[in-house]
Parts: sequence; C-alpha cells; structure tokens
Amino acid sequence: MNKLIKNACIMTMDADNTIIENGYIGIEAGLITYVSADFPATFMPHMIIDAKEKIVMPGLVNAHTHTPMILLRNYADDLPLQQWLFDKIFPMEDKLTAEDAYWACQLSMMEMLKSGVTCFSDMYFYMEEVAKAVNKAGMRSNLSRGLQCFNDDFDVMTDERLLENEQLFKDWHGEANGRIKVSVGPHALYTCVPEYLKASVELAKRLETGIHIHVSETQKERDECIEKYGKTPVKHLADLGVFEVNTLAAHCVHVSDEDLDILKQHHVNVVYNPGSNLKLGSGIAPVTKMIERGINVALATDGAASNNNLNMFEEIHLAALISKGVLEDPTAITAEKALQMATLNGAKALGNDRETGSIKVGMKADLIIVSKKSPHFYPRNDITANLVYATQASDVETVLVEGQILMDKGDFKTIDTEEVLYHIDKISKRLFEVS
Ligand SMILES: [Zn+2]
Repeated sequence: MNKLIKNACIMTMDADNTIIENGYIGIEAGLITYVSADFPATFMPHMIIDAKEKIVMPGLVNAHTHTPMILLRNYADDLPLQQWLFDKIFPMEDKLTAEDAYWACQLSMMEMLKSGVTCFSDMYFYMEEVAKAVNKAGMRSNLSRGLQCFNDDFDVMTDERLLENEQLFKDWHGEANGRIKVSVGPHALYTCVPEYLKASVELAKRLETGIHIHVSETQKERDECIEKYGKTPVKHLADLGVFEVNTLAAHCVHVSDEDLDILKQHHVNVVYNPGSNLKLGSGIAPVTKMIERGINVALATDGAASNNNLNMFEEIHLAALISKGVLEDPTAITAEKALQMATLNGAKALGNDRETGSIKVGMKADLIIVSKKSPHFYPRNDITANLVYATQASDVETVLVEGQILMDKGDFKTIDTEEVLYHIDKISKRLFEVS
C-alpha cells in the first residue's frame, strides 16, 4: 500500500543532519521513494498520513538487548553484575521455557515500539521462538544464540549451543524479506573458555556473519582477565581472532587507550548501554574518546532485567548527559551525536546502514512519527536538542517498519496486547510461585 506522509518536520539524519520543514515522504513497497519540501505531483498514495505538528525521523536502533529477560524485570535489583548474574539471573533462567521466550519477546517489542524502536539486536536462548515473534510483529532484528562454555572438553561437532546458533542462522538469516539477520553470540570472555571463543569465531566465519559479545563490562572482568591471561579483555579477544569478523561489542566500559586503538583498528562496533551500566554500578564507558578515535558507537538499553526499561529515548538522554558530567565538559557528547548513536550508528553496527538509519530515497521506510504537541516542545527552537533533552517515549505516536504501521497512537497492529499480557501474567505466576 503506497503511503504519503505530509506536513512533516523531517529529521533526515543524513550526513549533514538536514531538517526539512513541512516536507513529504512517499513510501512504495516498503521503500522511501520520495523526500522533499515540495508536494509530489505524480505520486498516487493509497493512504495519507498527516504529520502536521509532528516530527518524522528514522526508527531507533536498540543495538544490544535480551528480550526474554523482560520476565525478570524488578526481580533482582541493586546488586553488582557478577552477583546479579550468577546468583539471581542464571538460576531463574533455568526455569524458562521456549514458549516463555515467545511471549516475553512480544512484551519487549511492545515496550520498544512505544519508545520508537524499529530494530534491535538480541542475544539469548530459545531464539527460534524469538525469531517467530519478530517475524510476526514485523520489526527488524539481529538475533544471536547466547553461547557459554566453562570447560575445554567440548566437542565443536556436537556442542548443543553452537549447533543451535548455526540452525538459527540456517532457519532465519535473511528471512522476512531480510528483516531478520543472525549473528553468533558468545556471551563474554568470562563465560566462554578461549577455545570456545575461537570455535564461535570459526562458526561466524563459516556462516559469513558477525559476532555479538559482552566486552569489558566491569572492573572485575578486566582484573580477572589480566590475572588469568596476562592481558586486557580487548587484547585477549583480539588475539583469539574475535574481531576478525564484524563485531558488536556491548559495553566496553573498562578500556585503556591501547584497547581503544585495537577496537578502532579492527572496526569493532561498540554498543553503549548507559542505563544498565549505571544501574549495575559497572562504571561509565569513555564514549567521547571512542568517538574522537572514529570508533562506531551505537546505543542500547541492554535487557529489561538490568535497566529496568527498554526506553531508547531515556538512553539517548543519558548518553548525552553522562559524559558532560563526568568530563565536566558540556560539549563532550552533543545532541546530534547522541541522536546519531541511536539511529545511523546503530544501523551501521548491524550492517544495515545502506537500508536504514537515515531518511533518503531508496532506504527502507523504517520511520517513527513523534508528536510535537506537548508543552515540552515549546518554544520551538532547536529540534535536535528537543529530541535529546526533552522528548519523552510517550511522544512517539506512530512506528513504521518497511512501510508497515506496527504501532499507531498506542495501538499495536501486529501484536495482540491482551493475549500477550495474559500469558506474561501466567508465566510470572509460575516463575515466582505466586498463587
Ligand atoms: Zn547484555
């Protein structure tokens, strides 16, 4: 169905950050076919969306999350990462079923759509169910099976997790008109022995896909890695060949200048998770230094068990503020840079920047429409600053992926809200043994 968006304030997020006032966007077969301040005289739309008093911008990319973990939201809080993960989260995860993951992913997608997310990168288990949920909901996603192995006596031919990741790739990579991609997901260096990390990279190379991994999230991880292997986590992973494929490195909080040079040299994509890092008391990633070096920095919420929400506008806000405070420099991360992290940089990190992340002719129509009617949009000076410092997730009115409307004025078009909430209630009663 051809659509025409009219009267829009268009944040193109192109290289010049061009903003078109009272503009038009034509959408045909899921692609943007027209962008201009002028009315398209020859375009024949089946549907017209009036974006008067509204901003149209590229959909946000949540570059690192664990959607099924939404079931563990508010279950274990105010604990350091290692204690949170090993004592609380891992034991509870043993109770989860494949069906739980299917419903939980849908709940996560509902929350993400409400804050303008069109694409996310997910790492967990029961990913076949997650893929089914993504396919049905119409979002764009990069999925990886979280891989762990604590001893060396695994057999690469029979290792259940590696086989599952490979099967996920065979079943889903490039499916749903290319909306779903699959990477390999070794969880972290402290949950994967070196030989297993090597096996993960070999798998990624064989499948010609990327790696999604947690890197240098805490001081403890860094100290233990140096003690055990005589080098930093970044150097350890580089020496094991992990960065030889396109890598999504979540966190990179505790990194030296030398580590940053290695990340830059290998074109590693860093995913900044300010909310999760703050909540787990993990520290603050040196994002300004990364950007200065030309490292691609994307933005993410992490899972809802460590954030505890999936609101990307909150992450944009945090990303812009934190570095200013820490460095006592208001120019450390500009509003424009923060917005780029959540759009273009995220698309680039997932290898999607030729298709999404900015608004121009030929790109996929992954767009969000943000209302400017609330009091916090007045006076109307700098729209970029407003989106970063004042906009709320609740200002997001409409979300389109490949031209299909997935959410409009709070209504989900591809997800049955009542059905999802019914199942989430049922699952949480079972998990937490509430009668
Ligand atoms: Zn994570």
